[in-house]
Amino acid sequence: MSITTLSRKNIQALTPYQSARKLGGNGTIWLNANEYPTSPDFQLSGKDLNRYPEPQPQAVIENYARYAGVQPENVIVTRGGDEGIELAIKAFCQPDQDAILYCPPTYGMYAVSAETIGVEMVTINQTTEFQLDLPKIKQALAEKSNIKVVFVCNPNNPTGTLLNRADVLELLEMTRNRAILVLDEAYIEFTQAVTFVSEIANYPHLAIIRTLSKAFALAGLRCGFVLANPELIEILNKVIAPYPIPVPSADIAEQALRPANIELVKQRVQGILNGRDWLIKELAKLPNVVEIFDTHANYVLVKFQDGQKVFKALWDEGIILRDQHKAVNLANCVRITIGTDEENAKVIESIKNI
Ligand SMILES: *Cc1c(COP(=O)(O)O)cnc(C)c1O
Repeated sequence: MSITTLSRKNIQALTPYQSARKLGGNGTIWLNANEYPTSPDFQLSGKDLNRYPEPQPQAVIENYARYAGVQPENVIVTRGGDEGIELAIKAFCQPDQDAILYCPPTYGMYAVSAETIGVEMVTINQTTEFQLDLPKIKQALAEKSNIKVVFVCNPNNPTGTLLNRADVLELLEMTRNRAILVLDEAYIEFTQAVTFVSEIANYPHLAIIRTLSKAFALAGLRCGFVLANPELIEILNKVIAPYPIPVPSADIAEQALRPANIELVKQRVQGILNGRDWLIKELAKLPNVVEIFDTHANYVLVKFQDGQKVFKALWDEGIILRDQHKAVNLANCVRITIGTDEENAKVIESIKNI
């Protein structure tokens, strides 16, 4: 007997998250994980590693609350935004009974976390304009009383598009007293659109996911946040691991969230947006580009005549992009993270040479 047969049936069937790192490639230019292209420079301020960390590092909570414009009791620190996604499912969905709802094409971790925990997935595809199909969501909520958590991502990954604000508000009304609405704002720093943080006061079932992995250029730190009302935060605090944030991560996160560094983040974001404008302008001149989707994030989704050919050709040159060919309604689409000016120029150069 193989020990594999001892593992849970849902784990045997599970396709793990295809993280950019796992996908490998002989990359010299990594544009497949929406990371910031260079590392910020921080020094650890302490060396006391013999003690367990604070379960919820107070200084990090206070700094993030100030940054996000909420009170400390509205914040939980997590091991990346991904842990926040998992906590919401763990806390609100009974395995083999309850369900989550999400709207493809979107971030892959909602499905992976649900499958791992053993929770049913209800999918309502986005419209062709990458908006919420509210009538179908309403119908699903009416027909399936086991839907406990609804995930929406704004700006959406991998499309970069923004949801209509009125639609999100309608979804908040639709889910009131019915389900938790997890709003994933991992890319909120890259858009002019307004965060939904102020709606926390109006909706006890709203949970907003944030991260230091994208605009803050700290994907290696593994630090994220959920913002919500204290009642919801307390529930998540019940199911989180005892010491989720390592001492070095809390140390650097606290520094990264000081006002002076937040100013630097704003400048870096502006640099990425300039690079994005340039990349889009150059992509638009290429004959094999079919469509460049409107983007509000640090990446751009591009439809090519033959997307897989472009993906493969750049892969062979060590430029690693994210193939979206298999995602719902994204045939021939490739997601390109905005890199340094040099990296962006190489992308254009390499596509021209195909
Ligand atoms: C990157 C990302 C996250 C969180 O990533 P972490 O590195 O775990 O903080 C969450 N949601 C979306 C849509 C993302 O792209």
